[in-house]
Amino acid sequence: MAIASTLGMTDPASPANDFSGRDKLKAHSVEFRKRVEKITDGVYTAVGYSASNVTLIQAQGGSIIVDTSANPVDAMAIMGAFGDLMIHPVRAIIYTHNHPDHTGGATVFAGDDKPEIYSHDLLVRIKPVTGRGRRDDGDAFGTALSDDQFINAGTQLEYGRVTPHTREGFLPPTQTFDGEEDSLAIAGVQIKLIHTPGEADENISVWLPDRNVLIAGDVLLKTFPNIAPLRGLPTRPVEEWIASLDKLIALNARFVIPGHMGTITGASEGKDALTAYRDGIKFVYEKTMEGVARGKTPDELVQEIKLPAELARHPYLQEYYGTVAWAVRGIYQQNAGWFDGNPTHIFPLTEKERAAKLVAMIGGTAKMLGSAEASLSAGEFQWAAEQADYVLALEPQNREARTVKIHALRGLGERQMNATARNYYLTVAQSLDKPEPLSK
Ligand SMILES: [Zn+2]
Repeated sequence: MAIASTLGMTDPASPANDFSGRDKLKAHSVEFRKRVEKITDGVYTAVGYSASNVTLIQAQGGSIIVDTSANPVDAMAIMGAFGDLMIHPVRAIIYTHNHPDHTGGATVFAGDDKPEIYSHDLLVRIKPVTGRGRRDDGDAFGTALSDDQFINAGTQLEYGRVTPHTREGFLPPTQTFDGEEDSLAIAGVQIKLIHTPGEADENISVWLPDRNVLIAGDVLLKTFPNIAPLRGLPTRPVEEWIASLDKLIALNARFVIPGHMGTITGASEGKDALTAYRDGIKFVYEKTMEGVARGKTPDELVQEIKLPAELARHPYLQEYYGTVAWAVRGIYQQNAGWFDGNPTHIFPLTEKERAAKLVAMIGGTAKMLGSAEASLSAGEFQWAAEQADYVLALEPQNREARTVKIHALRGLGERQMNATARNYYLTVAQSLDKPEPLSK
């Protein structure tokens, strides 16, 4: 299965002894090492000090800061790392988007300088979305995992594990623009702000034409994008995301700074990165829509739709943060609704009814548990978890079923290269492992 180890990296059915996904995720952490990158004259980016990047633009008699890190503690560390490169006063702060890891340290950079704060108008108009996907204490960022279980969070080394993302350092925008773009001159620096929705509706990219630098925001990340996140968010606007990347490709930037991780240097390298990203998203979108038109179900499409080999190999489309499978499900639901077309699924049995019938059919919970344990021993972690769930639907406190599920989730988590899936599996396993029984 040489192909599966390249393409099926996040496939839950990967062999029991295959830890290559985890090894890849560990190796990915090198992207998050702390450093200040000199992009070109007068432009520096602090990578790895916080969840997201902070870029310093030196201007006439002052500085411009793009994104502000996750909180005042991280922002202080970044100010220290920039050191003498910071020219005071800070004349302007630009938020690429509203996610707390980009906006939480503004007060530190602003100090007493009273800079203008720029963003797209949607940043003030849209209520910030936080995830709602914490059923069973699952946490895609793995904030509560112990150090030995935690690897990284996909686009950042950690998200709120050390210093929570509290927004206490947020400053509201003072200058916003509506529509496609805005051209500014701040302290002698020509700046174009370009609306590039994708991971966030309000995302803007910052283009410095004189310095040939593009600060993309989260519309480009060095991982397959999280189009339909586990943490209970709406599916991201996929067609807009593709159009945003088209706009950025056309700039032909010599330096491309993503919202997280290191800078891509060289016009052809930048173009290749943005193009692969656009093509990867577009491929999954088009194949899903074709499948919808052919009457395929989401489950069938998840099996069918794999990136072509060249895109599957691309370093910025590896499934550390999002996956093709979830993108397919998200796009399906976004465009064709929740119903998969099988009339049996119009009004299905409840989980409890189905579990009661299946457990009775096999001859009781002890038989179901015996089968689940055998699956676990055989390395069939997904099937073991599903059988444990049938028992837990009837007896939520059943200790043996919980134990099977804990081991199954750890088995799945340890074989994942996707950070958010790994973190979710392992945080739920951790919470099921608490000695006290769950009380309802
Ligand atoms: Zn981000």
